[in-house]
Amino acid sequence: MCAVSVPQGQQPTSGTGSMRAAVFERPGLISLQERPIPTCGPTDAIVRVTMTTICGTDVHILRGEYPVAPGRIIGHEPVGVIQEIGSAVTGYEVGDRVLVGAITPCGTCFFCQHGTGAQCSGHADEWEMIGGWRLGNSADGVQADFFRVPYAQANLAKIPDGLSDEQCVLLADIASTGISAAESADVQIGDSVAVFAQGPIGLCATAGARLKGASLIIGIDAIEKRLNISREMGANEVIDFTQEDPVAAIKRLTGGRGVDVAIEALGLQQTFEWCLEATRPGGVVSSLGVYGGKLEIPVEPFIYGIGDKDIKTTLCPGGKARMHTLMSLVSTGRLDLSKLISHRFKLDDIEDAYELFSNQRDGVVKVAIIP
Ligand SMILES: [Zn+2]
Ligand SMILES: [Zn+2]
Repeated sequence: MCAVSVPQGQQPTSGTGSMRAAVFERPGLISLQERPIPTCGPTDAIVRVTMTTICGTDVHILRGEYPVAPGRIIGHEPVGVIQEIGSAVTGYEVGDRVLVGAITPCGTCFFCQHGTGAQCSGHADEWEMIGGWRLGNSADGVQADFFRVPYAQANLAKIPDGLSDEQCVLLADIASTGISAAESADVQIGDSVAVFAQGPIGLCATAGARLKGASLIIGIDAIEKRLNISREMGANEVIDFTQEDPVAAIKRLTGGRGVDVAIEALGLQQTFEWCLEATRPGGVVSSLGVYGGKLEIPVEPFIYGIGDKDIKTTLCPGGKARMHTLMSLVSTGRLDLSKLISHRFKLDDIEDAYELFSNQRDGVVKVAIIP
């Protein structure tokens, strides 16, 4: 993965000492290593991480299913404290608690100015897809003691008093991503919404459907614990797809019509097809999954392309305004993700955390990593 250039951030103003960091070495190996503390350029900030987590995308990186450069520090979901601020960044102080989104848009490029900050090209001459995903992808990430925030003015979201690290850490990616599925589908008050499957992102999509005012929300998974959390996050019906055909069940629950919106939150051909089949003519398939290999659009469930079905895709919205919006949902009690953190690890034990999370052992949903 080639780096997205950050021309204004190239002049180091500091950066001494070393830190611990989880580094992608090669497919199959992420290890904790000693690395230099990053240097702070004029438009950057250096944040001391107080909590992070592991994402399903990090597992794709570990398995070699999503390419990042060997030697890259990974991780893209940070809560921390400002350690140093670039000379061009205003309105913050060292010691401020901040949440930084997984996506760090520059705020000024073509894509940012057109409302698609996740596809940000920064100041690079050439744009590339999903260029806004820098942390733990095209730049060093946050599973470390410290990380560098690019375009800090656009990306440091101060955490209001009263919100804990655990209440905020899942907002950086899974909440922003999951909720965005319901927003992209433009879920209307009273809509019916099915969410395939109920992993961390799917559970947040279920919460998003409730926030958008859906009436019937159907959570689909095969793990009882996840179906139980699904009900707590807003589902009023759950389907175990190993026990019954989910499309038939959805048709039964919607008077034979199909749902207004089906959300794909897994990234498999099968769940994508189920979404198409379960959506009524004129409905929306809102796709979040990262599909490995080839994805085919089967023509019959797509009603031969003339059924007025929309397929929407969304990459996690980032930037500080998005993070403030999500934190306001938490602080007003409209969104509670505390049930999703099932395990806690010290940074020193992050390799164990990867082992547990990537093999889905011990009923894990999300892990908190504490440096
Ligand atoms: Zn992620
Ligand atoms: Zn941009």
